[in-house]
Amino acid sequence: MNHETAVSNAKEIADRILAPAARQNDKEARFSSEAIAALGSAGLLGVMLPAEVGGSALGPRTFAAVVATLAEADASAAMVYLMHMSATATIAEARPGATVAQTLKDISAGKHLTTLAFSEAGSRSHFWAPVSRAKRNAVNVHLTAKKSWVTSAGHAQSYVVSALAPEGKSPTDSTIYLVTSDTPGLSVAGPWDGLGMRANASAPMILDDCKIEADRQLTDDGAGFKAMLEVVLPLFNLGTSAVALGLCRAAVSGTAAHLNGARFEHLGQTLGESLPTLRAQLATMQIDTDGLAARIDDLVDHLERPRDTTMLRVLESKAAAGDVAIAVTSAAMRACGGAAFSKHLAIERLFRDAHAGAVMAPTGDVLREFIGKAVLGIPLF
Ligand SMILES: Cc1cc2nc3c(=O)[nH]c(=O)nc-3n(C[C@H](O)[C@H](O)[C@H](O)COP(=O)(O)OP(=O)(O)OC[C@H]3O[C@@H](n4cnc5c(N)ncnc54)[C@H](O)[C@@H]3O)c2cc1C
Repeated sequence: MNHETAVSNAKEIADRILAPAARQNDKEARFSSEAIAALGSAGLLGVMLPAEVGGSALGPRTFAAVVATLAEADASAAMVYLMHMSATATIAEARPGATVAQTLKDISAGKHLTTLAFSEAGSRSHFWAPVSRAKRNAVNVHLTAKKSWVTSAGHAQSYVVSALAPEGKSPTDSTIYLVTSDTPGLSVAGPWDGLGMRANASAPMILDDCKIEADRQLTDDGAGFKAMLEVVLPLFNLGTSAVALGLCRAAVSGTAAHLNGARFEHLGQTLGESLPTLRAQLATMQIDTDGLAARIDDLVDHLERPRDTTMLRVLESKAAAGDVAIAVTSAAMRACGGAAFSKHLAIERLFRDAHAGAVMAPTGDVLREFIGKAVLGIPLF
């Protein structure tokens, strides 16, 4: 599969499966297993994996385009996909000796969905500092943790889980493990009923003395933090930025459709023909959306050809995207007036979904902290 095929497969799935069901899935907070099955059949679950394990070896450019295409139809499904891809990258980078080849083959074959389980009730959005600590006996590791949010909870075949290393000294001395869904002691701890992203099952999960075999340890003891920063963060921030872009594009097209369709009959004009203020709001939305697309292209370029400024771009992209998504979907709510407020249009779902990006860790505030420190030359942690 090449880049064009991957994006056109995503578009076909977005049009055929995601868009028609998005409203009802949002209403019922229903996880779309059909979407995941279709992404798997189209080869998109393993699109970045190497050919040896059945993947298409495509890069961040394809990932970003696929996520944005899915998000334009249904941001919840796009987020499930981006969490899967971030977790998959972590599995693919597993330390020598970890038994992951079959999992990667299953992912490429479209039979395995995975996700990240980093955030904990104790350390909240500071995902880099798990408060749970792995316990090691002679052969295995045992994990007990309260994971506060896990996208695809109860639907994934595996979870990429962080915990403090057994002998870890500092709060960032974490280790990452691959926990399969059939592990005794692993359970979903409650329902998911969010303001937005309602169809992605981001529920809390409990690990109660889960036994993890040694070959399911993905990083060396204490090396989880490095993997979070070097493997997960670039892809996760690119993916959340692409979700924001999809939301913005949907808000622009939804607003344009409304301004072209709704009429002042007493004036014989559409809203768009009649009101320059609405045209100006739409124009600002378009400018912001294209600005975000350019920022994402720039990040992709930095990831394809890493340089000194790459980490700064990784941080900036998600910080900016979270704000742009909120601004553009808020403008859409206003431009579409009561029709949006009364839920006659999909705009209000976009507005609710857009608020997730800024609070997902690293949050927009934390990113600003990091960026400010980086510019001043102060260590981030
Ligand atoms: C839809 C959704 C899906 C999610 N899915 C997953 C998942 O699959 N896996 C996973 O691991 N996690 C997931 N999360 C959790 C997410 O990454 C965050 O951990 C969570 O949103 C943090 O919420 P909190 O209330 O605990 O934040 P808190 O840490 O309590 O933050 C509260 C406020 O304080 C601010 N703040 C915190 N620290 C600082 C700081 N140092 N400087 C400045 N401001 C700061 C924050 O920006 C925020 O505004 C998901 C979250 C959402 C919303």
